[in-house]
Amino acid sequence: MTLGSGIGGGVILQGKLWRGYLGSAGEIGHIPVEPNGPFCGGGHQGCIEVFSSAVGLKNLIGRVLDEGVTSPFLSAFKERSPTVTPKDAYEAAKQDDFGARRLFERFGEYLGIALASVVNVLNPPAIVIGGNIANAWEFFAPSILPSLKRHTFPYVAERLKIRKAGLGEDAGILGAASLIFAKEACLP
Ligand SMILES: [Zn+2]
Repeated sequence: MTLGSGIGGGVILQGKLWRGYLGSAGEIGHIPVEPNGPFCGGGHQGCIEVFSSAVGLKNLIGRVLDEGVTSPFLSAFKERSPTVTPKDAYEAAKQDDFGARRLFERFGEYLGIALASVVNVLNPPAIVIGGNIANAWEFFAPSILPSLKRHTFPYVAERLKIRKAGLGEDAGILGAASLIFAKEACLP
């Protein structure tokens, strides 16, 4: 799974990329987490992508504000919301800003809800999360599993590994290259 401006996903089953019947498998970013939530670029409502991604962060800040949380970061957001970036949120979280910390908690909670659907269908041994926003791992990762556990069988969640991707920004290019070398593995 990659957390960038949107959310990308790929499903590896028994060592092979699973493309699905029409090639659309792995659209993890479009798993719904709020039936009446904001619309994504694909025209659906309340996908995880409209919350736990760079673009979605602003929707998520709205959810934190709805909770009545206040902090210097949230005040700055209210004043200049179009120019606030995920990096600003990350920097504020590092400075112990309560609102920014709560924002990343919600970020992880929403990821946990979406990933519960993946786990319920596929029971994978591991979920690997990369992308730019994965740099804020320390702030959102701890809330993924408790949230996921509320929607999955305990013995499944307890043995699931949730890991930060090791390849960093090279993951996309290496993945694309690997498709050439492993072309056979990608054929249905
Ligand atoms: Zn969507």
